[in-house]
Order: sequence, then structure tokens, then C-alpha cells
Amino acid sequence: MKWTNARIKKLMELLKNAHPNAKCALEHLDPFQLIVATILSAQCTDERVNRATPTLFAKFPDAAALSKANTAELEAIIRPVGFFRNKAHNLIGMASELVICHDGNVPSDPAALGLLPGVGRKTANVVLANAFGIPALAVDTHIFRVARRLGLSEADTPEKVETDLCGYFPKDSWIALHHQLIWHGRLICSARNPMCSECALIKICAMGTGAITDPHKR
Ligand code: SF4
Repeated sequence: MKWTNARIKKLMELLKNAHPNAKCALEHLDPFQLIVATILSAQCTDERVNRATPTLFAKFPDAAALSKANTAELEAIIRPVGFFRNKAHNLIGMASELVICHDGNVPSDPAALGLLPGVGRKTANVVLANAFGIPALAVDTHIFRVARRLGLSEADTPEKVETDLCGYFPKDSWIALHHQLIWHGRLICSARNPMCSECALIKICAMGTGAITDPHKR
């Protein structure tokens, strides 16, 4: 089943109708809070991150404060999000870089973002899209799974799936699509129990139509 322009358009319409309110689930007020929350969200649910960040941001409201954080104190605050030692190390390093190289501000340049400690491609794309409105399509675990089940990609890395998706969808749709696909993965197309019979996408989905078996289980 080929992804023609008409089929892509239909998919975009169905996703928009299914998840009209899809948006970033990480609570944040500015680019600094978003980059911190996104670093914390690795291997952790957004809900758990949102429970930790109010205390974190009250104590360390900006890059200058976070760069001087006491490691043990920071680790204690973020312990519930997992991998807290590594994340605390990255947060302090990231904040220090912001202070030293960017006057304490989060850069809106992809290359500069990618050089910050703890900031991989996914985090950089989340910040670009949600903090600065720059089109980017961050592929997280949900998008990786949903895209492969839909048959939009057969790639085996998030980076390659991102390339495939960006090739199919118009640039001005990437930010909304990112949120819609994540919500779809969370609410309908879950890892263990995809609800195909209740899914609005079933008629155009490779797995839903039986054209492929679940790539997530191969
Ligand atoms: S039809 Fe099934 S596999 Fe396809 S997107 Fe929907 S829930 Fe996922």
C-alpha cells in the first residue's frame, strides 16, 4: 500500500479529527523550563516529570541558578523521574553551557542545541518546535511505533523514521503532527494493546488492514 499524496492528506485529516487538542504534555512556561523538562522526560512519563518540575523550577528558576545547583539537592528533587544521577549531571552541564555560551538563554539554533549536554536530536526538536515554533518532528517511542505500524516507515532508528516522516508530510504540519502521533500512540495505538477496532486510522493503516504484522513485535 503506497502512501500517495491523497492518502497522506487523509491521514492528516483523520489524525487532526481524532486528536484536535493534542499539545505538548510537559508543563513549561519558557524555553528553559521546556529543555529541562524534556531532558527529564527520557525513559519517564510526562506526568511524572510534571510532578517533579514545580519544585525544581521554584528552586532553580533559570540557567544561572541551575548551573550552580548542589548535585545532591538536585538529585533528591528529580529522583522520581529515574536515571536521576545522569540527568542531574546533564542538567547542571546544560545550564552551565547556557550561561557560558548563550547568556543564560536557550538557543533556537539546532546545531547549538545539539551541543548542549543531555540534548539529543529528539530533545532539540521538541525545544525547537514547542519553544520557538520552528518546524521539527521529534520521533519519540510512540511516534516510532505508530509510524512503523502505519507503514510510513520501515526504518529501525528514530532518526531514519524522522527522515521518512519529514519526506511525507508538509513542513508546516510537523509540529501538530508530532503531538497528534504521540497522543495516538498513548491513547489508541499503545505498545502492548493497540485498539485497532476502535482506531480512526484502521482503513489506511498497514497493520490495521493486515498488510503487515506488528513491526513492534518482530
Ligand atoms: S489501526 Fe491499529 S496499528 Fe494502526 S494506527 Fe490504529 S491502533 Fe495502531
